[in-house]
Amino acid sequence: MKTVFSGIQPSGKLTLGNYIGAIKNFVSLQHEHQCNFVVVDMHAITVAQDPAALREQSESVATLYIAAGIDPSKSNVYMQSHLPQHAELGWLLTTLTSMGELERMTQFKDKSAGKETVGAGLFVYPSLMAADILLFNADLVPVGEDQKQHLELTRDLAGRFNHRFGEFFKLPEPYIPEVGARIMSLDDASKKMSKSNPNEGSYIALLDPPDVIRKKISRATTDSGREVKFDPANKPEVSNLIGIYSQLSGLSIAEVEQRYEGQMYGPFKKDLAEVIVSVLEPLQQRYHDIRQSGEIREILRQGAERAEAVAAKNLKEIQHLMGFLPRG
Ligand code: ATP
Ligand code: MG
Repeated sequence: MKTVFSGIQPSGKLTLGNYIGAIKNFVSLQHEHQCNFVVVDMHAITVAQDPAALREQSESVATLYIAAGIDPSKSNVYMQSHLPQHAELGWLLTTLTSMGELERMTQFKDKSAGKETVGAGLFVYPSLMAADILLFNADLVPVGEDQKQHLELTRDLAGRFNHRFGEFFKLPEPYIPEVGARIMSLDDASKKMSKSNPNEGSYIALLDPPDVIRKKISRATTDSGREVKFDPANKPEVSNLIGIYSQLSGLSIAEVEQRYEGQMYGPFKKDLAEVIVSVLEPLQQRYHDIRQSGEIREILRQGAERAEAVAAKNLKEIQHLMGFLPRG
């Protein structure tokens, strides 16, 4: 049994990218491993958030975890801000991180591009993410492809700590799906689908009603030509849609291509919308039931309590290794 850690930011409405790249794998890993699936609200505030919206989105992300099939009696589901150890270890690891390492992070470059002022939190985000993972000495981190670079930094920091202060951390492995690790925007296949994209047409939100899903898919940009063929280099837009189809239907890429051989984009897109609706409709039903029941706060409380027992013990040992005087 391995220790698993992953998180999603309550920085907007969760998308199909978050589902395929992350949540779907959370659900399959929970049966065999000790999992921590966290709503990382302290990461979300590295970009300005409206307080009321942050609270709503936080509860929504936690509820979506459960609606998607995460069993809160098996996995620890909790809010990052409810465990002070995340920020504490974040600071300790910030002191081990170099400016040059942070400057190389593509997420920082993407998110700071064109901004007049850039918060320091956005810059040190990767140190806090390393702390999230290392706090539990996680073995495995299910993430989308965009987080690979942050995972590499996490491993470097773990190794650096071990070298300077004594062996404590395991080097966590990323768990990145072969297909679906980078779902692209519906309006521009050169950018990944992101919940913080201000253009709502660029993503399918997990809570989008069926008619909105149908509209967004019918408006999704498609490459010139007419063949439903998986060819990311030359047909990035259609290939992205085929990838989504394959991930949600269980059909292989080749099977999807075969099914639409000789047909044009229209029927393919129509069916794709139905495939998405058939996965999201039951999830949405469970989501609304859970929200109505009001049980999520208690789930988060219990998750935080279990996780904190491990986090507090690990942090104490880390502090000792670094030379902090115990409180007594
Ligand atoms: P933001 O725009 O606020 O950064 P996001 O959509 O990138 O939001 P995150 O909370 O940053 O979502 O990431 C949560 C998880 O979802 C991570 O594991 C990330 O790798 C994964 N993920 C995000 N976008 C995609 C995508 N387009 N395809 C596959 N996985 C994704
Ligand atoms: Mg992101």
